[in-house]
Amino acid sequence: MREDICTIPVSDAFETREGCPICRMYNMLEERALNYIMGAAMMEPDVRIETNHLGFCHNHLSNMQKRKGSLQLALMLESHFNEIEEKAFSTKQKDNKKISPFLKSCFVCEKVEWGMAHMVETVYLTFEKDKDFRELFLSQPTFCLKHYERLMQGAPKSGLKKYKSEFLTGLSNIVSKTLEEIKGDLKHYCSMFDYRNSGPDKDWGNSKTAIERAVTFLGEK
Ligand SMILES: [Zn+2]
Ligand SMILES: [Zn+2]
Repeated sequence: MREDICTIPVSDAFETREGCPICRMYNMLEERALNYIMGAAMMEPDVRIETNHLGFCHNHLSNMQKRKGSLQLALMLESHFNEIEEKAFSTKQKDNKKISPFLKSCFVCEKVEWGMAHMVETVYLTFEKDKDFRELFLSQPTFCLKHYERLMQGAPKSGLKKYKSEFLTGLSNIVSKTLEEIKGDLKHYCSMFDYRNSGPDKDWGNSKTAIERAVTFLGEK
């Protein structure tokens, strides 16, 4: 895929300041990749070679099914089926291991991951170089647990140098604050089921959305 399809200004995802900015980056990239493949790209021979080989995961195929372009989708699936039949399908049991790579790969997931790797690297580099971005990063309300892990794991081999410890400490502080908040709200939520709190004036506080926030925090993407 052309580089511009997978490159979005990192600041776009951070300026919203709502929920995890890396999830937002993922969603932007995923939307772009899906629009790209359901658009004219689907009929391009070089793209078709890739889709024949990689196929799509169930999640992305379901998404594509809901979009316009059923003829292109059918044409692409038809040639993907041809490739499966030609390269992997066999009536002999021992040959069927060639099917498993087809089940594990996805054209959209691969493009999104390519874009994510570049954007995450840009996050580190911009944090290192740009004071305004450091402030923007450190003022995020939260990061989901999955992307917290990704940012922490990638930091040692990234472009972070002078500001590495500020990055790691700042990120950990943001995430630990969210963890504590949700934990407290989950506890409060559970306590509301206690008969002693059953009066008409019972105060749910922020706890009504605790489960929803816990699920989002654990990361969907
Ligand atoms: Zn996230
Ligand atoms: Zn996928």
